[in-house]
Amino acid sequence: MYLTDGHYRELAQEMVRSQLAARGIHDKKVLDAMADVPRHEFLPEAERKMAYEDMALPIGEGQTMSQPYMVAVMTQLLDLHGNEKVLEIGTGSGYQAAVLSVLASEVFTIEIVPDLAGRARLDLQRLGYGNVTALMADGTIGLPEKAPFDRIIVTAATPSVPEPLTEQLAEGGVLVAPVGDRWSQTLVRIIKTREGLQQTLHTKCVFVPLLGKYGWQE
Ligand code: SAH
Repeated sequence: MYLTDGHYRELAQEMVRSQLAARGIHDKKVLDAMADVPRHEFLPEAERKMAYEDMALPIGEGQTMSQPYMVAVMTQLLDLHGNEKVLEIGTGSGYQAAVLSVLASEVFTIEIVPDLAGRARLDLQRLGYGNVTALMADGTIGLPEKAPFDRIIVTAATPSVPEPLTEQLAEGGVLVAPVGDRWSQTLVRIIKTREGLQQTLHTKCVFVPLLGKYGWQE
């Protein structure tokens, strides 16, 4: 049975209430954005009925769309006001990029798996997220031609934050990334100041690995 758009909207609102607000996500703009973005539209047909459940979901190629709560935590840590240029590494389904697109002025998102990059680009276009540029490349080297970025979000697990990314972060900018080993990481938030990088540690998490030049070598 296919759910209607109205039904999906209700599920999105319920997700925001029971999984996000109830667990301490307090940034109203983040809650509104996640009630608004149609998460199910970024999933393969077979997964759609699970779209608003409290879990990560398979998107093909062995990759996953993050759990809603994790998307909310990372987005809240980015502290977006609306005028930022954002870089995301690990487009996956394109869902996180769509949430960022609502909250920032310009989003660049990079995916290393060609099929996923292509599908996400089409979905983002189809759904009207016109301020997102989706690229296929190794995101660990960043996007020097568009730097500096006000915000950078890495949505794959990395042993350490790739240096090109902190280099491409603007002064006063914020970077969020899951840092740790293959099976468990901690969300790290880095603020770039004139004096250097200031780091704080946040939620424990589990992401698929960041591959590429400054990620994990296969
Ligand atoms: N943000 C995504 C979920 C990310 S899953 C969403 O909203 O759906 C992590 C993604 O990072 C996977 O799709 C994986 O292929 C990609 N990835 C891994 N290493 C990468 C790299 N070096 N550059 C860009 N993308 C990478």
